[in-house]
Amino acid sequence: MSNCKYIFVTGGVTSSLGKGIISASLAKLLQTRGHRVTIQKLDPYINVDPGTLNPYEHGECYVTEDGAETDLDLGHYERFLNTFTSQANNVTTGRIYQTVINNERKGVYLGKTVQVVPHITDEIKKNISKLGETGDYDIVITELGGTVGDIESLPFVEAVRQFIWEKPNTDCIVIHLTLVPYLAAAGELKTKPTQHSVKMLLEYGVQPDVLVCRTEHHLNQELRNKIAKFCNVKPNAVIESIDVDTIYDVPLIMQKEKLDIVVLKKLKLSTKENPNLDKWKEFLLRYKHPKNEVNIALVGKYVELPDAYKSITEAFIHAGASNECKVHVDFIHSELVSDKKADYILGKYDGVLVAPGFGSRGIDGKVAAIKYVRENNIPFFGICLGMQCAVIEYARNVLKLKNAYSAEMSPKAKYKVIDLMEDQKKIVNMGGTMRLGAYDCHLEKKSLAAKAYGRTKISERHRHRFEFNDRFKKDFEENGMRITGINPDTQLAEVVEVENHPYFVGVQYHPELKSTVENPHPLFVSFVKAAMHHKG
Ligand code: GLN
Repeated sequence: MSNCKYIFVTGGVTSSLGKGIISASLAKLLQTRGHRVTIQKLDPYINVDPGTLNPYEHGECYVTEDGAETDLDLGHYERFLNTFTSQANNVTTGRIYQTVINNERKGVYLGKTVQVVPHITDEIKKNISKLGETGDYDIVITELGGTVGDIESLPFVEAVRQFIWEKPNTDCIVIHLTLVPYLAAAGELKTKPTQHSVKMLLEYGVQPDVLVCRTEHHLNQELRNKIAKFCNVKPNAVIESIDVDTIYDVPLIMQKEKLDIVVLKKLKLSTKENPNLDKWKEFLLRYKHPKNEVNIALVGKYVELPDAYKSITEAFIHAGASNECKVHVDFIHSELVSDKKADYILGKYDGVLVAPGFGSRGIDGKVAAIKYVRENNIPFFGICLGMQCAVIEYARNVLKLKNAYSAEMSPKAKYKVIDLMEDQKKIVNMGGTMRLGAYDCHLEKKSLAAKAYGRTKISERHRHRFEFNDRFKKDFEENGMRITGINPDTQLAEVVEVENHPYFVGVQYHPELKSTVENPHPLFVSFVKAAMHHKG
């Protein structure tokens, strides 16, 4: 049997209290004390994974090394912990039911009536233990998506109750995140919503061990005592989580509140080792005291919901700190950009990033933005669809291939400079069928990309169906757009660069997914550098 410890993080009162950030912050504190920690997210929706969700619904779809399409919280876990997650770190109701129903069809349940309890809850428990049983971790933090009381999350709460009941007392704890609202008219912080949400958890048979209270004002001792008494926890287990300027402050405020110590004591783990947060603090110092600043335009079509580009904005924070430069990122709706308006909209920026995406909407604006920055020597960074648009723009305006396009938007185009990948042609299902996850890439020695990485052999994560059409390679290369990175096995074009431009890099992969606090992504670092140079 593994002697892994399990921490469950539930949420009450409202959504969006930051369970993901609290989980990641606690994990960071435990990790810096020498524990091997990972975080898992249980999502109550019926989609098998968020891969088929529109970004407006659920923000960015985060892709792991093993090609799982997952919740954006996994991005926070990786950025904080600087370790990889995998498919096992994100489990949805859809996936649980899919497995159980497949098992039923195979006859696994031997004629029994298949029910939420025990079959669904058993499958959930199996998924909770899975990470612990690998032997790779001392502590697994499991975050329950949604808010306690939601119909959808009930089986998960019940599974957690059973899981805790089956384990020795000191193997599991529950942290409940709640809101302590401030009523301006009364001039008071109110504890009742917290009391009610704990009561609801108790109805399901789960007693939280620790309460983390989101608040805009400090909680005094009297208030903490009150919450503790009514919710049946010790006063030192009432943790204040005050609003802060940046999510990267949260590990430090959790350390100040001794969340890690309360947790370790409950799990009967040593509190001797002190967390070493030097690197983290150094990052914060650089982030908060920049010596320069640059303005970057992010041109995309989901700009109304900044969460759709979460990893990109976070990668800019890491790269900014590493350059001691404040990076202001403005979201520009690609549908607003045209050849005529490009100068007015983009002229003031030190760099332009064209975002990933799917479908036809906003493509013309992306192409116009790229034409403008290419001709005006403004640093350009294209990611996935952004790279494909750079190829389309170059084909149309430099190679003079009239109406050159991607097969995604125009399957009948004469010049499909971006085409469907061969092995995608027979695929019918939408979910989980793209080219996903980590693949190797070899960079040309003298390329901008190789200079940025400081090496020529890299591996990056992917999520796409279309690719650069090699039939046109010669034409592009003879006219100044070079393929500077390729997949060594399939020759698929991974990186394009334009010669005689200060910084023009397009990548088929998603570099933003691998940027962390401790390892800012080299391409974001070099792009910010180029923007600083452009400004200077
Ligand atoms: N829609 C493009 C493709 O499938 C790009 C995908 C993306 O930007 N992630 O190839």
